[in-house]
Amino acid sequence: MKSEKILEVRHLVKSFDGKTNVLDDISFSIAKGEVVVVIGPSGCGKSTFLRCLNKLEPIQAGEILLDGVLITREGIKEGSNSKKKDNEKVNYEVRQKVGMVFQSYELFPNMTIIENVTLAPVIVQKRDKEEVIKEAEKLLKRVGLLEKRDVYPRQLSGGQKQRVAIVRSLMMQPEILLLDEITAALDPEMVREVLQVVLELAKEGMTMIVVTHEMEFAKAVADRILFLDKGKIIEESKPQEFFTQPKTERARQFLNTFHYEEGTNI
Ligand code: ADP
Ligand code: MG
Repeated sequence: MKSEKILEVRHLVKSFDGKTNVLDDISFSIAKGEVVVVIGPSGCGKSTFLRCLNKLEPIQAGEILLDGVLITREGIKEGSNSKKKDNEKVNYEVRQKVGMVFQSYELFPNMTIIENVTLAPVIVQKRDKEEVIKEAEKLLKRVGLLEKRDVYPRQLSGGQKQRVAIVRSLMMQPEILLLDEITAALDPEMVREVLQVVLELAKEGMTMIVVTHEMEFAKAVADRILFLDKGKIIEESKPQEFFTQPKTERARQFLNTFHYEEGTNI
């Protein structure tokens, strides 16, 4: 079988206190162009899962492979005298390839929108400034914010800021994008404009892992749903199947709390 797995996780275990496993034996992979939506109750480990994939959190056991290359400890040990330095180098490379957008957008308040989105590509990736600006303008246009190019974040609404945060991530030209409840802090009328951008990215073939509580959006955007509970993947199914015939009682209960209505559109 042709392997197009961008990211693969094998038996991942994450614990903060060495006693309880916040992530407990997670195995999972995502193919190029696939959109996986992670759903589950608050505290079940969704954010921690994304943070582990991005190497923002060390893991206690298991392996993570990016483009078939081991990016966790065991992979770094081989042939290395200077483990710590190698680890930092790998983490840096991982963050170039794995973009992440959070609930809070954290744009630099003292920089204009164009400065915010071009900073890292120019400074960190050392790319040509003019070329980077051109790309940024193209992306800002795509999310409907080109006219906000020279304003400051405080002059934007929450939904606009979150769209800028998505552009900022895309500017790093990531292979995969992790989105952690990116509309959770937004007023309802702004949720749709942000989700629309994500839907378009999905259509264009962006590989994404999306944590969301927006069930209609999940159904529309997902190729596959992972349902997490207490640090374990307890269901993995096609959206149609998950939303109409969840396999577990736990998922059924969870979906009921959303008063999920079949057939409504986002
Ligand atoms: P979710 O995103 O699904 O709401 P999280 O991944 O944020 O869940 O949290 C999963 C569990 O891990 C929770 O019990 C939370 O309290 C715990 N946790 C998360 N981050 C930390 C941390 N930095 N230190 C200790 N415990 C944490
Ligand atoms: Mg979370």
